[in-house]
This record gives sequence, C-alpha cells and structure tokens, in this order.
Amino acid sequence: MGPSTHTPLVDSFGRVIEDLRISITDRCNFRCTYCMPEEGLEWLDRHEVMSFEEIERLARIFVERYGVRGIRLTGGEPTVRAHLPVLVAKLAALSGPDGPVDLAMTTNASTLRHAAVGLRKAGLRRVNISLDSLDRRKFHEMTRRDELDRVLDGIQAAKEAGFEPVKINAVIERSVNDDEIVDLATYGREQDLEVRFIEFMPLDADGPWDNEQVVGQDEIVATIDAVYPLEQLPARGAAPADRFRYLDGAGTIGVIPTVTKPFCGDCDRVRLTAEGKFRTCLFATDEHDLLGPIRRGADDDELAERIAAAVGTKWAGHRINQVNFIRPAKSMSQIGG
Ligand code: SAM
Repeated sequence: MGPSTHTPLVDSFGRVIEDLRISITDRCNFRCTYCMPEEGLEWLDRHEVMSFEEIERLARIFVERYGVRGIRLTGGEPTVRAHLPVLVAKLAALSGPDGPVDLAMTTNASTLRHAAVGLRKAGLRRVNISLDSLDRRKFHEMTRRDELDRVLDGIQAAKEAGFEPVKINAVIERSVNDDEIVDLATYGREQDLEVRFIEFMPLDADGPWDNEQVVGQDEIVATIDAVYPLEQLPARGAAPADRFRYLDGAGTIGVIPTVTKPFCGDCDRVRLTAEGKFRTCLFATDEHDLLGPIRRGADDDELAERIAAAVGTKWAGHRINQVNFIRPAKSMSQIGG
C-alpha cells in the first residue's frame, strides 16, 4: 500500500492518532511498588496473549492503512517475551507515511547486556529505560529486585549497541525517591542521556496512590534548576514530555506531567494490551476487543472499522484531578505503560 492511501485516524476532537503502544506481555521480572503487587497478580494464559502474527497483523493496519508513524513495545517487561527479535523484525518492516515505522521499546534493561545487539540488528531504533534510583538499597526497595548494577550495565549495553537516543524514565514519588532528583539529573548529564521524570500516576496495582505522593513538574524543574539552571524548550507537540535544556549545554531533561499539567489535548496515542484489547487512553475504563474478532475470522476491513469506531470514543481527557475520576481496573503493567 503506497503512502497516498493512508487514511488518518481522527478522533471526535480532531486529534490525529499517530502513535501506537503495544504491550507484548503482562509478565515482568521486576515488581516495582508503584506498578505491581509483590505477589498475586494473575498472569494471562499463553493462549490469551497475542501471537507475533496477530500483533503484526494489527500493527500493519495501524501503520499501512491509518498512517501511524511510531510503535512502542512495552509490557510488563517486553524483553521477557521469547524470540523478541523475531517480532521486532516483523514490525520494523512496516512502512508508514514517513517510510519505515519508528520502532521503540520501553524496558527495565535488566537483560539488555545480552539482548541489545540482537534487538538493534532486528530493527529496533530507540529504547527508553526505567531507572528510579541510583542507590542500591532504594532501587531494591522500589523494584523489589536487587538489580541496580545489571540495569546500569544494560544502559551501557544499549548505548554500545547504537540505540539513539537512549532515554531514562524515572517515576518520582514523594518521600521515596524525591531526594534523588538532582542525582538522577547528574547521572543523565554525565552519561549523555536524557532523563525523563514521570509524575506518579494512579495506576499502581497495590492501590495506595494519593495526590500527596505526586511530585509535580514545577517542583521537579525547580529542584534541578537550583543546581543546574534550565530553560524550557519550545512546545512538545504530541510528545508526552515537556523538555528543558541545561543552560551550560550539558543536554536536556524531560518531565511527563500527567497529573499536574495534563496534555490530553495533544494526545496522539492509543494502546493495545497483551491480550489484544484496544484502549484509547491510559486511564480508559473501557476496552475494545480486537483479538476475539481476529480469532473468529474477521478480515482487515472489519478490524480497521472496529479500530476507527473505538478511536471515535476517545475521551477529551483523563479526569485524575476531578471528583468523578475512576481508576482503571488494571495496573500499568496490565495495560502497558
Ligand atoms: N517493564 C518496562 C519498564 O520497566 O520500563 C516497561 C513497562 S513499564 C509499565 C512502562 C513505564 O511505566 C515505566 O517507565 C514505569 O516507570 C512506568 N510506570 C509504571 N507504573 C507507573 C505509575 N504508577 N506512575 C507513573 N509511571 C508508571
């Protein structure tokens, strides 16, 4: 299908959908406190999870029919899925309006020392790596895994494999790791990595989220600016992070201010969960099944129609700060962050 045949996916507020997040597994080898319970989360059965062929089929509709430009693989932890480079190669071969799809992945990096080169060769372009603490004890507390050294080594492996850029995601929680904001910024400056500070969102499986635990963008930026002066970069467009540059030229940071400065008006993202449910917002309370129709024999036209109809229901915005906010029944690990 040539570029001229793309039909944009437009929601009822005129937002054009160009970014697809695909969760390829609900399983994870970490148990981050802000995301998963220590034990007891029920895994999907293998047959409930989309196969590589099913993922590719849906991704092809988004990219080749609807002109989606970027796909990000996530989870759970995407690298725990066996034969991941096979999937990456299938998706990297898809072509959208700008040519090959911009294929990225979010990972905890714990296996990247041995996986990075194979993923890069298969066509993965970019990685975002979660790192919430540089203190071994606190890292262990937050992830419930004593694996800081492996993650730091995984970050080096990602750089060596040629991923460009490698970005770091750090969720900041009040009284947990807010004392490390400057340390994380220093690490990014020294390692030439963009650190993206993420406001803590109500998507934790244990459910203790409270507004008091959110460290907002203004506070994060002021804390860093007091040590390393910053200047805000021009508007972010559809990207989730507001970006700032160090005045001394030592790089940039991002802040994802989902709670204190929602950016829903510019949102161009939709999501597929590992079991093939289509979600038009991270905080949506409803999902649209695509895997059921695939397995019942739906053709691409039917799947494309279901996708377009669901996009028509995308909310104007999440309601985190409003009295009628209802938490999604799923945690971030089950949705795909
Ligand atoms: N396992 C991978 C990882 O660690 O990056 C990918 C999945 S993880 C769910 C994706 C992102 O969601 C991570 O950067 C993680 O920090 C973030 N995340 C999870 N729960 C969150 C929450 N309650 N608030 C904000 N970000 C969260």
